[in-house]
Order: sequence, then structure tokens, then C-alpha cells
Amino acid sequence: MFPEPESDLPERGDLVLSGVTAVTMDPCLGDLEHATVTVTDGVITSVTTDADAATPPGATVIDGSGLLALPGFVDTHWHLWNSLLRGSVSDAPGRDYFAVKRALGPHHDLEDFYWAARFALAEAVTAGITTVHNWDHNVRSPEDADVNVKAQLDAGVRGRFSYGPRDSTPADEPMDLDDLRRFSARWPAERLDGLLDFGVALRGPYRTPNRVCRSEWGAARELGLPITMHCDRCLREEGCRSCGLTRLADEDLLGPDVQIVHAVHASPDDIAALAATGTRISLSPITEMRTMGFPLFSELFKAGVPVSLSTDTLAMPTAPDVFTTLRAVEAVEAARTGSPEVTPRRLLQMATLDGAHDLGLGDVTGSITPGKRADLLLIDARTPNLLPSGDPAEALVRQGRATDIVTVVVDGRVLLDRGRLTQPSAQAAISGADDRRDVLVERARAAGDWR
Ligand SMILES: [Zn+2]
Repeated sequence: MFPEPESDLPERGDLVLSGVTAVTMDPCLGDLEHATVTVTDGVITSVTTDADAATPPGATVIDGSGLLALPGFVDTHWHLWNSLLRGSVSDAPGRDYFAVKRALGPHHDLEDFYWAARFALAEAVTAGITTVHNWDHNVRSPEDADVNVKAQLDAGVRGRFSYGPRDSTPADEPMDLDDLRRFSARWPAERLDGLLDFGVALRGPYRTPNRVCRSEWGAARELGLPITMHCDRCLREEGCRSCGLTRLADEDLLGPDVQIVHAVHASPDDIAALAATGTRISLSPITEMRTMGFPLFSELFKAGVPVSLSTDTLAMPTAPDVFTTLRAVEAVEAARTGSPEVTPRRLLQMATLDGAHDLGLGDVTGSITPGKRADLLLIDARTPNLLPSGDPAEALVRQGRATDIVTVVVDGRVLLDRGRLTQPSAQAAISGADDRRDVLVERARAAGDWR
């Protein structure tokens, strides 16, 4: 049913990128032309403009002329489980995201969950996203949580798995806290290959009564697991225009261990509460603008709140093209606030280094820095949309396309080589997506949940 763990992951080879323009996103290194980046056993061992840099014996040398190197993108909130719903969500009556999620969500079996995650992660790799926070708000059983972790490890993509309740769990029913307590014992560090850690995806005080919220929040903190929570359309207060985050701060529910998602109605006081408590925020601008309101990039940047970027879900539907998303953010913020804080370089930092910090990976990924793991993109800088050349950060945000990314390295493994996924199982996740969706829809139809 599933490939054996890591069975078709490529080996971590030693790599030398020579003559590349490195947009390192490292504040000390900056942009380096004619740079040599050396990777040994998954670690970036040197970044230099010294033309005589030593090549480790046996290393694969990649001619970087005409290429830009960028750290891999970090996506901090993505519901991988519902990726096979993308083509079924539409503008037709009864086919909106929430209706389709409710109709098809319960009919996923373990194989569907595995392949939905593999499909999304394969697309993530093609888009240069090397770290993904798998925000699972439909954990239907302990085995379901396990297949998600397995999918993430088999895909070789760095990230976090955040354990949530099953979709549509009644508000007064807590998530499976017993399995949450057992879960990490099933996945000790030696099985995680340094690629994955765990968190908890909670409904929080807006969607659950105090008793449930307190028990879930308390369990997460007792286990030392980072917490993530949506703050979107407030389900209890019609027309709500404030996120009430000051209330959460008063109740001690905010802090650096908490990631709030969306918060598009945050008031100045809410934003001040986020900044004062060091709470992190993940914004998914495309799904937010389509269904919730304007994401508050300018205000959050200005207040010093840690902001990161996310896809949310393929099923809204959308595509995880970071350049296109950042371009939309820059344009909307220019029209909405004209804030000088929202520059292409700041946006690239948000999509790389700031995302790494959000997930506690600031020392691991997010920049091309010696000592960090090798999560790298090579981008063809000779495509017409990137010419004539100028400032690389401005060019990538304003003119870049995901298809300009030709090579993607995660933890020293080449997962995309000249535009092609190197894992047969990743290719199979894509080629099998339509058939898997058809089986899922048939199952829901047979149960009377899909017409
Ligand atoms: Zn979400």
C-alpha cells in the first residue's frame, strides 16, 4: 500500500554549486555574485566568493552560471489532508470549500490521507517549498496521524505535524488527548531523521467551551508542544470585527509557543497583544483575501509581530506559488497602506527565514548560512521574465514564477532535478491524484453524501 520509509529518497550527496548568484537571506552574507556553496552530508559547509574554494572529493559540481540560489521556502500552515478535494471545489451551488470538506472529509481512508499529503508535498517541492507545517484539522484516528507523519518523512520534506481533532468534532468534545500523549513515543527522534517535529492544532476559545479549551491548551503546554489556532471568521459573533486577542492575552493563552493563523480582523490592541507576548502569526494571503478580508502585513510588520507565510489549503482552491503570492501581497499592501515596510526583500525574508523562526528552525534552515542544513533552490535567472537582470530580490518577487525553480535540495537531497521530481513515489502521487479523487467521491456518493 505504501512505499517503505525513505525507500525511494535519494541519498544525501555532497554538492558544490559554483559561480552562482546566492541570495543568501543571511543578514551578514547578503547577496553574493559568483559564489560557491558547498554542501557536505546535508550541511552547508561553506559559502564563499573565493574562486579557489576547495571541492570535496566525490562531490557533484553544479555549474551555477545563470542561476540564482535561494534558501527553500517555509510554509507555516497547510492542511495537507484535504489536497485531493481541489478539483471538486468550485463556484457551483453546494460545491464551496466548506461544503465539499464536510461531504468528503469523513470518507477519506488511511491511503487517501497518505496520498493527499504526498500529492501536496510533491507540489510543494516543485514550488520550492522545502519546509511544511502540516496543520491537520481532520485526525480521524491515531493511525491517521501516523500515516501523515509517514507521508512527510517519505516525502523528505522538512516540517512539523500538528495533531488536531477530526473535522466537525462537536465543540464540547475534546480532541483525542490520550493519543496525543502517546503519539510522540511512536515517533522517537531516530525515526524522524532530523526532519520533523510535532505540535497541536487547536480550535481554541472561539470554537470550544472553556472546559474543552482549557483541557486541550493545558495538555499541549504540559507536553511542551507548540500550539497553533485559527482566528478567522469568528463563528460565535456575527459580523465580528475584532479578534479578541487581548482577551486571550489576559487569559495567558498567548506566547512564543503559540501561532495564530489569519487574524484578519485584529484591532490595534490585538496586534499590540501579539507583539507584547511574542505570539507568532501565519498569514495565507490568497485564501484570506478570497474568504475573510485583508491580511494585515503592514500593521503586523510595523508592530514587530513575527509573521510567516502559508498556503492554507490547495482545496480553496489555490496553488502554492510563493512568487505569485508575494507579488499579490506587495501590490495589495501598496494600494491598501503604502507602507514602506513591505518591500520585496522583506517579503522574501518572511517566506524563508521568518518562517523558519516561526517553526523553531531558525538555526536549521531559512538562509544559506554555513552550519545550517542544505535546503536550497536553484532558479533559472535567464528566463525572459527575469531579464534584463536587476536586484534579484525585487526581480523574484515582482517577476518570478514557480516554474523558474529548476532544482530543489532538502536536507542535502536533490528532490527536484532540472524541473523533474526525483522520487518515483512523488511522481506517482501526482499521476494518481485524479483516480484517487474519483474513488473518494464514489465512496461518498454510495453513502449518500455526494450528489
Ligand atoms: Zn487553515
